[in-house]
Amino acid sequence: MSSINTPLPVRRVIPPVPVLSLAAFAGGRHAALPSLLDGADARLVTSGRIAIGLALRALGVGAGDVVLVPAYHSPSMIPPAHWCGAEVAFYRVRPDTAPDLADIETQLAKGSVKAILATHFFGIPHDLAPLRALCDRHGAGLVEDCAHAFFGARDGVPVGSVGDYAIGSTMKFFPIYEGGCLVSRRHRLDVTLRGAGAGFEMKAALNALEAAFAYGRLPVLRMLLALPLRLKSALWNARKARSDGGATTPALAPSSSDSSFEFDARWADKRSSWFSRAVLRCVSPARIVARRRRNYVELQRALDGAPGCRPLFPRLPDGACPWMFPLLVDRPQAVFETLQRAGVPMTRFGAALWPGVDASVCPNSADLGRHLIAFPCHQALDDAERAWLHAQVRQALETCAAVPA
Ligand SMILES: *Cc1c(COP(=O)(O)O)cnc(C)c1O
Repeated sequence: MSSINTPLPVRRVIPPVPVLSLAAFAGGRHAALPSLLDGADARLVTSGRIAIGLALRALGVGAGDVVLVPAYHSPSMIPPAHWCGAEVAFYRVRPDTAPDLADIETQLAKGSVKAILATHFFGIPHDLAPLRALCDRHGAGLVEDCAHAFFGARDGVPVGSVGDYAIGSTMKFFPIYEGGCLVSRRHRLDVTLRGAGAGFEMKAALNALEAAFAYGRLPVLRMLLALPLRLKSALWNARKARSDGGATTPALAPSSSDSSFEFDARWADKRSSWFSRAVLRCVSPARIVARRRRNYVELQRALDGAPGCRPLFPRLPDGACPWMFPLLVDRPQAVFETLQRAGVPMTRFGAALWPGVDASVCPNSADLGRHLIAFPCHQALDDAERAWLHAQVRQALETCAAVPA
């Protein structure tokens, strides 16, 4: 509702996820925190959900088995269990997202639980030792879901080292188009992967570069690649036109790269692209950890005292490398819509839960899903972008708090 007199808000779109820049390669190899890949047998696949499927399969999960999943979750965590033939049951989480051990114990006592998924939400590592002990007592496997915690440690215990297997979603932490990992510090991985073909390799590389170009990064490379990229678009369109004409061409890349929750089993044995693997090897892990921590703390400080909200975690623990900054908001819908109009990237993690998972299953999960808005704190945000983000969020909170309910 803007009148002639009120100027439209400046709509500055900032990258919602890490994008490539030259700076990504500077900053050193030695991160302050361990990574999932340190000291582990690892396989680089095309998504975190594929890695969950492979982890469950490695634990021997099959028909008739039950996999326990947190009631607070990403819907992408469920289909991998179904792919193994198992059923999914949900366990409660505490208000800070930690697993509710009493509820897990009750469900373990039923006897058919073969594996448990435990998630370090938003990159804040849980102490999983008590859950590990429970699993050992009942003969259940433990898969550590480190999709939000590629780096980190709790009390000196690195993320990913407590579970039989751990999974990561490398595309949440690195400037890549596709990527996930299956790791284990406890077992040898019996998983053989193969390349997904030249079309996929090309798409993975070009999409990562185009994401960077779209936000003004790598301008020189953008100029050099202008012609080849136009050729690519022409080829892509020709390919699409062919497939629209009847015969279906298989997708060049998995849907997991397009913010869908689907599980596509055709990608279960595919290796992550050459480009993604090269980026993982070449960008600075020290910079990722340091910047994400700095950006998180800075945003928390910028929102200090803002009305109608509180951070999910009162402080960022020393051992954490955050995925995003989770904020609990009293009037989430109004704030969300205001920020969406301004072009602020956000994730309402848990707003969409698996069908049937509601407050009767886990009141805390329903509450988190309703009130939580997560904001980017990734390493690629520059000074101006972060200042803009802080101002937008603060302003939306103040505006929405001032309107009578
Ligand atoms: C994103 C996510 C996954 C799946 O990762 P993808 O790489 O998107 O397949 C698993 N668990 C959690 C908690 C996630 O947020």
